[in-house]
Amino acid sequence: MSDIRVRFAPSPTGFLHVGGARTALFNWLYARQMGGVFVLRIEDTDRARSSDEMSQAILDGMEWLGLDWDEGPYHQADGIDQHRVEVQKLLDSGHGYRCFCPPDVLQEKRERMEKEGGSGYRYDRTCLDVDGAEAERRAMSGEPHTVRFRVPDGETAWADLVHDEVCFSNEDIDDFIVLRTDGTPVYMLAVVSDDAEMGISHVLRGDDHLSNTPKQLLLYRALGLPEPRFGHLPMILGPDGRRLSKRHGATAVSEYRDAGILPQALDNFLALLGWNPGDDQEIMLEHELIARFSLERIGKKSAVFDPEKLDWMNGQHIMLMDAHELGRLVAPLLIEEGLTTEEELEDRADWFATLMELLQPRARTLTAIAEQARIFLATDIEYEEKAVGKHWKDADSVIERLTVVQRAFDEVVEDWNPGRIEEALRAAAEREGVGFGKLVHPLRLALTGGSASPGIDQVAWLLGPNTIHERIAAATAFLQSRSSAELHG
Ligand code: GLU
Repeated sequence: MSDIRVRFAPSPTGFLHVGGARTALFNWLYARQMGGVFVLRIEDTDRARSSDEMSQAILDGMEWLGLDWDEGPYHQADGIDQHRVEVQKLLDSGHGYRCFCPPDVLQEKRERMEKEGGSGYRYDRTCLDVDGAEAERRAMSGEPHTVRFRVPDGETAWADLVHDEVCFSNEDIDDFIVLRTDGTPVYMLAVVSDDAEMGISHVLRGDDHLSNTPKQLLLYRALGLPEPRFGHLPMILGPDGRRLSKRHGATAVSEYRDAGILPQALDNFLALLGWNPGDDQEIMLEHELIARFSLERIGKKSAVFDPEKLDWMNGQHIMLMDAHELGRLVAPLLIEEGLTTEEELEDRADWFATLMELLQPRARTLTAIAEQARIFLATDIEYEEKAVGKHWKDADSVIERLTVVQRAFDEVVEDWNPGRIEEALRAAAEREGVGFGKLVHPLRLALTGGSASPGIDQVAWLLGPNTIHERIAAATAFLQSRSSAELHG
């Protein structure tokens, strides 16, 4: 075991989003590569905005992505006693002080300052002048107050794992609150206390936290706690260059799952949002990501979330899958639609896997595979109006051609395989003196209801002689009713 300990610390105020999932993934990859420990901590100190349902949704999202954690889920709220101990230490050492300023007075000061055009409101330290013993006496008597951190002069710098040297002037940092009036610690303190308590060695998180880091470092230093290394992951933008948000479409991981995206494809895609392997390899499975991941190759530049690329990647991962495995993922979609049952698919497991193999290169999502699998399982099919207009214009001659192909199929019933099927169809076309297409297009429409499908030999092979017979009969009946309607209409 290495001494690398990383964590993912989501606030359960929403679903697991793409940005959060990317943070979780980078921490997980680093832990797995280094033989370290990946800790999950739910930051639920904001009780009003947190919910158990959201916590569960986050855990579900991580499980689906295969991001298993070694410790936790811990809950930030469980650390509250330790958080208060740290606050007391700050008070005792003079790094913290009690602030009795009522909220409305603070608000007024803030508004006045904004009106005067001042940039960046800072607390004016009124209560820093309250004598220590006096402050204790007022606190003991129950006077409402917060505890603030006394920001020292100077600057706060650190060697960021992504941004290299980062430095903030402490002048720009407010004497921030660490304990609220109701006695609850704020995130800024709780996160430091928890990370120290859990021995976190590396904090990898989105660069929206960049401005929190100097405050947290000041707390580590004031409390004499060992500092973790910090690395801030680049922002994720939508294709229009604006920060990724709902207006760009799906942002919750579960929405991608429901749209037929594979977890390994989403992991692969997320890994490349801000990291690159240093060459042009794009498709990587979990073990490759683990082997190739490196903090050094995390970029500073924002990453663009391109849904088109995700679809393409998903298609690539679908192709890499074992057909039986793919079938297990597609089956529920077909069962849900009432097209088949679990038992039926079990009975025809090899057939179903062959169908998956046929569709693998033709679809980019599980949903699209299910859609294309439909015609192989449906009991009746609908004919596309446009294809009917194109390939079934002359009903009588089409009926004749369908009779010819039925005969061709009958000839190879005993030797049912794609090669023989194609041979028989070609021989029939030759006998009839028509081009292969003239037989195949009307046939494809009869078998699939449309004008696009995998090779007709494969389609016919998988449908099997009985279904073919039924579909040709149904098509013939349909054409006959059309032809007599035309005669009499
Ligand atoms: N709970 C914080 C959030 O969800 C993350 C805190 C951290 O990573 O330090 O944004």
